[in-house]
Amino acid sequence: MAELTLQQARCPVCDDDRALRCFDKNDFSIVECRTCRLRYVNPRPTREWLDAWYRHEYFSLSHEDASGAQHLQHGGIKTATAQLRLQWLRDSHPKGRLLDIGCGGGFFVRAAAADGWDAIGIEPSVEAARCAARAQQVRVVAGRLEATPFADTRFDVITMFDVLEHVFCPRICLAEARRLLAPGGRLMIETPNMAGWLPRVMGLRHPWIRPPEHLTYFTPATLRKLLTQCGFQVEELHGNTRKVLTLDYVLALIARTNPLVTALLTGTIGRWNTVCRYPLSVPLATMLAVARPIPQEESA
Ligand SMILES: [Zn+2]
Repeated sequence: MAELTLQQARCPVCDDDRALRCFDKNDFSIVECRTCRLRYVNPRPTREWLDAWYRHEYFSLSHEDASGAQHLQHGGIKTATAQLRLQWLRDSHPKGRLLDIGCGGGFFVRAAAADGWDAIGIEPSVEAARCAARAQQVRVVAGRLEATPFADTRFDVITMFDVLEHVFCPRICLAEARRLLAPGGRLMIETPNMAGWLPRVMGLRHPWIRPPEHLTYFTPATLRKLLTQCGFQVEELHGNTRKVLTLDYVLALIARTNPLVTALLTGTIGRWNTVCRYPLSVPLATMLAVARPIPQEESA
């Protein structure tokens, strides 16, 4: 990896550069935009450094505490969460072409394909894309959306699960998603709700406050503002959707920021494998937004 270099950032939602420093974590500062109140990492690593990190390190199974590696190692709960997300699609949208941006190990793409969707994923990590193609037997393109290979293809549904908070430039990413949606298509986004109950309870120890991988910390208000700016009409915005988790996954996730709690739980109930691996559907202060692109003539 190249040496980490930092650069100044403007607000990813309103482009203002006036912000107040809130707190530091992992040697990075998180600031709050004075105009729209969005919190984001500033200064932050360069795009080149982040690209290389996601391409080669984030999902590396040789980095045990990398979030991406944990994602690949807990495919069972990721598949179970994929079923929760698919339920919404079953209830609200006819099946067609589906693109999952930042598909990681391909668990959602596989579940969607099994449910009858013509599904494909795109994933910047070469290792995760290879893992998805091999282990999940799904179609995955290794690369970034902005360097898109989907020039002439339009999708009925585009999904971004736990992705937007990582993206270097959310507005460019959403503009590309909008371009790739077919008429009548829908964008479905899941991202941590930083105004939700869990961040309020855990404060700085919250595992989602995770710079530099999480660069932008959305609330319902700032996510809605960003989507509107990018030419979407928000149809649904839920602030507390469910994910499927196991205790051993949670312990791995919080080990770095909550060592005492992790040691206590590992030493007690963590000894019982059955309890540790039991999947639970938990409302985790995650936002789910569903939006449709506003046709150019309507937005003009
Ligand atoms: Zn702002």
